[in-house]
Amino acid sequence: MTSTTAFRTCPLCEAGCGLRLDLADGRVTRIRGDLEDVFSAGFLCPKGTVLGHFHEDPDRLRSPMVRSDGELRPATWAEAYDRIAEGLEGVWRRHGRGALGVYLGNPMAHNLDGAMTSRTMLRSLAPGAVFSASTVDQRPRELASGLLYGQSGTIPVPDIDRTEFMIMLGANPLVSNGSLATAPDWPGRLAALRTRGGELVVVDPVRTKTAEIADDHLAIVPGTDVLFLAALVTALVDGQHVDLDVLPDHFRGLDVVVAALAPFTPEAVEGRCGIPAPAIRDLAARFAAADRAVVYGRIGTTVTPFGTTASWLIDVVNAVTGNLDAPGGAMFSRPASGSATTRGRREDGRSRRPFSRSTRVDELPIVLGEYPAAAMADEILTEGEGQLRAMLTVGGNPVLSCPDSERFDTALASLEFMVAVDCYVNETTRHADVILPAPSHLEKPHYDVALLGLAIRNVANYSPPVLELADDADREWQMLLRLAGLGLGMGMGDEVVAALDDEAAARSIRSALGDPAAPDGLDAVEAKAMVDVRQGPERMLDIQLRTGPYGDWFGANPDGLSLDVLEANPHGIDLGALEPRLPAAIRTSSGDVEFDQEDLMADLDRVRHLLHEAEPPFVLTGRRTLRSNNSWMHNMRTLVKGKARCTLQVHPDDAASLGLVAGGAARVTSRSGSVIAPVEVTDVVRPGVVSLPHGWGHDAEGSRLRVAAEHAGVNSNILTPADVVDPLSGTSQLTGIPVEIVPA
Ligand code: SF4
Repeated sequence: MTSTTAFRTCPLCEAGCGLRLDLADGRVTRIRGDLEDVFSAGFLCPKGTVLGHFHEDPDRLRSPMVRSDGELRPATWAEAYDRIAEGLEGVWRRHGRGALGVYLGNPMAHNLDGAMTSRTMLRSLAPGAVFSASTVDQRPRELASGLLYGQSGTIPVPDIDRTEFMIMLGANPLVSNGSLATAPDWPGRLAALRTRGGELVVVDPVRTKTAEIADDHLAIVPGTDVLFLAALVTALVDGQHVDLDVLPDHFRGLDVVVAALAPFTPEAVEGRCGIPAPAIRDLAARFAAADRAVVYGRIGTTVTPFGTTASWLIDVVNAVTGNLDAPGGAMFSRPASGSATTRGRREDGRSRRPFSRSTRVDELPIVLGEYPAAAMADEILTEGEGQLRAMLTVGGNPVLSCPDSERFDTALASLEFMVAVDCYVNETTRHADVILPAPSHLEKPHYDVALLGLAIRNVANYSPPVLELADDADREWQMLLRLAGLGLGMGMGDEVVAALDDEAAARSIRSALGDPAAPDGLDAVEAKAMVDVRQGPERMLDIQLRTGPYGDWFGANPDGLSLDVLEANPHGIDLGALEPRLPAAIRTSSGDVEFDQEDLMADLDRVRHLLHEAEPPFVLTGRRTLRSNNSWMHNMRTLVKGKARCTLQVHPDDAASLGLVAGGAARVTSRSGSVIAPVEVTDVVRPGVVSLPHGWGHDAEGSRLRVAAEHAGVNSNILTPADVVDPLSGTSQLTGIPVEIVPA
């Protein structure tokens, strides 16, 4: 027996834990936390241990699937690509290029292949609409950052390890392991905060696992974070905890914002957001008294009709208290592979309205070039110029994860042609005509280009493949470049993949050498020769590392980073704690952080109306569980075994008034649909709020997830209407959905 050990970063969630894998004869025998990992130091969660199970899952696709006589059947790669060419070219011929839509799922955010090639694929296919999972999650945060800092990726992260006071809204990192703040071991980091005398306050409609370890839990009415945040600013000002005169000159317009928020006193909002005014005023005083403090908000703040404005107000609170871009506050990462904040210069920034166009049918904003997922069904089902007649989905399961999912399911069934890149025949890909099988995580390299840009320490960690991919199989980057070749009319052959890959590498080098940060005298041809020992995403990553803020610049900075250096450091490289990055990282045309952005200021009118909206008797909110990650890990028996997790949580008082009993069933009905869910009576939810996790509902005919089907659960997104959105970002409301509940 041949035994080996491999180290790699877990790609399953945003925490990025280092794993130690024991292998025997090409099989994973054990996975533990890597004690020497520079970031996670041995931490891992139950999901991280299943990479081997996932690789060996008999339901995971190993070969392409092609529909024939109405059934998806295994096919050769050549057959699959021929069928894609025939199908897409047919749609283009009949309806034009704009008839293709593309959906990029959440796993693409954790995928080196996707990060390095999806842009080439999209540019070449020129689809009529691009959708992504971002638009049902963090798009409001990205939009707020785009407006404030000039780049959507300039997202402040909580400096957890140095803060002394943390207010956390709509986040449950003890279960989710964090989001838009890459940090392994949230439990340990939050415990350390309290051990050093710091305080944690959780604002959430549910007494989550994180709330249970907090000093205070404020049970807010779902969807009213924007009121709470506005009142927090006002309370800070009223309590004379704010001195705008001492704030940096590059914080523009905070005085205007503070004045506009004056009507939102704690007393004015308490009746609507459910948090008593004295508690808000007390919290403001304690927050201001801390030397280092931070407000951190996540999905509960973004999936509301006020997601962008709430994200803006989080930064306003941090800024007016001197905690934006300050140690222990909300800071900006300096990622090794570079980002919009490390390339270019402050003086060359340009402000753009990120939502200049609107979608064809629903007239929702197109933000950062992407249609909101909420628009997908209508763009497919509504006839007329620009109607989508074909879809390409890459690594997502929008039938379970997007709003009004029954209607979207119907829409997919109506397409003339559909291609999917995925590991499974799931609730979405069962509609496809061709599925290209994505390799397992162990068969491809990993570097979290996107998420290390949101890390709470500057770190870099590369993982080579652990297991070999079959000789005749493609990785995702090859699939995407073949699709790009088809879009360009070049064909889908190996030579096309090589040419497009080579061209992208040359373009990336030329661009980097043209950056103001580049040392003088570098030659693009010589530089390219240095990286040409690799190909594909590994070569692109090498270029980005070499030309990033710690890079070796092709030998000009001999002690700098390259992919060789990361390969020689399998436990990662720690590049230090976050440091203040403003004003250099600002990319607005004014060169300032533009807090008084007109779109955000104007949205306060809508917030004013929220104050007077009647609270529905019952509203639905979502939740995460530790052993689940959206929809796609429910086929791992080790994760889904035990008590059912897809339950409707109901407060005991509500259960009594509604006639619900623990273990019974309830019919939950919203404007978009109805489901029957098992009842869990618990006081973790506040009265008037019921909670159902998303990502379940594995009972669709045609999906091939045998374990998941045994634990099907119900699809909460049947209950989320697609047409209630944050009008700035187009992101759908997924929390605070009015529902009716009756025993079933
Ligand atoms: S916390 Fe996230 S990154 Fe860490 S082991 Fe679990 S799933 Fe993987």
